[in-house]
Amino acid sequence: LKVENLNKIYGKGENQVKAVDNISFSVEKGEFVAIIGASGSGKSTLLNVISGMDTYEEGEMYFNGMETSYYDKKDWEDCRRENISFIYQSYNLIDSYTALENVETVMRIENGKESRRERKKRALEILDQVGLKKRARHKAVHLSSGQKQRLGIARALAKDTDIIIADEPTGNLDVENGVAVMKMLYELSRDKLVIVVTHNFEQVQDFATRKIRLFDGEVAEDILLNPQQE
Ligand code: ADP
Ligand code: MG
Repeated sequence: LKVENLNKIYGKGENQVKAVDNISFSVEKGEFVAIIGASGSGKSTLLNVISGMDTYEEGEMYFNGMETSYYDKKDWEDCRRENISFIYQSYNLIDSYTALENVETVMRIENGKESRRERKKRALEILDQVGLKKRARHKAVHLSSGQKQRLGIARALAKDTDIIIADEPTGNLDVENGVAVMKMLYELSRDKLVIVVTHNFEQVQDFATRKIRLFDGEVAEDILLNPQQE
C-alpha cells in the first residue's frame, strides 16, 4: 500500500480542514504499523481514506501498484472486498447472531462459492484460532468486551484479505484484553499488512514494526522499530 502526497479536505472556504495533509508512505505485508497522534490529528480520517470508506481529494494511492484516483464507487467496493478488512473500536458485530453466524455471514458475502458445510468448518477453525470455539453458539450480545473484539478479528480473518486495518481496536478493552488483541494482530502481520491506530503506544511497542505519528494531519514521525521477539 503506497500513498503519495495524499490530501483529505473537509469543508469549504474558511471552514476548510485538511484532515490529511500531504501524507506519503509505503507499507507492505509483514509490517505491523502503529499510527499514533493526539485526538483530531487525522488518524481515523487517514484509515478511512486508505480503506476506501472515504474519498481523497489530492495525491495518489496504490494497491499492489495499481492507481486508485480514478476509482468509482463500484471499483472501491471491489477493491475493499479483495484487499481490506476493517476492525472497529465498537466491534460492529451483529448482536442477535451467534459468534459462528457472525463469521459465516462475512464468508457468505465475500465468497459465495463455498458450500454451507465448508463455510461452517472454516468458521469454526477461525473461531478456534481466536480462542472462541467454546463460544461459537453464544450470541454476540452476550460476549464480554474482549471476546467481542476477538470475534471482530475472526470476522476480519474470515474475509482473508492481505490488509487488516483497525481503528483503536482496544479502546473499549481493559489492559489484559487489549494486549491479547494486539498480540493476535501482531501474529497476523507475519503474512499480512496490519495497520492499527492506538491511543496507547505502550500497548503495541513490543509488537509494532513501524510507528507513524500524526500531528495536525501531517506525518510528524515515521520510524522503523525492532519488535522484541518473545
Ligand atoms: P483522530 O482520529 O486522530 O482523532 P480525525 O481523523 O477524526 O482525528 O479528525 C481529523 C480532523 O478532521 C479533525 O479536525 C476533525 O474535526 C476533522 N473531521 C473529521 N471528520 C470530519 C467530517 N466528516 N467533516 C468535517 N471535519 C471532519
Ligand atoms: Mg479517531
